[in-house]
Amino acid sequence: MPRETTQEKSARLILNHAVEFDYLLPGEGQATVRGDHDTYTVMFDERGTYTCSCFTGRHQCSHISAVREFVRGTEKAVNRLLAEAIKIAKGD
Ligand SMILES: [Zn+2]
Repeated sequence: MPRETTQEKSARLILNHAVEFDYLLPGEGQATVRGDHDTYTVMFDERGTYTCSCFTGRHQCSHISAVREFVRGTEKAVNRLLAEAIKIAKGD
């Protein structure tokens, strides 16, 4: 079987619900990713810097790739939910 690409693996991680967010804010977050061998922590900040606790570290690993795809796909919904929460908190 040919070796799985980073893209294929990150898609598989998302489909397997291997990505779990500890917190997710616009431009900032932390997620736990259940990889094939271990569980890793992926963090990102508003500068768009992603780091992973796996040995590949700062380079483009499938864990970072999976979290990045997930964030991209949910960004709009997260921003909308936050805007609503702020409105409620203000009592509007
Ligand atoms: Zn990693």
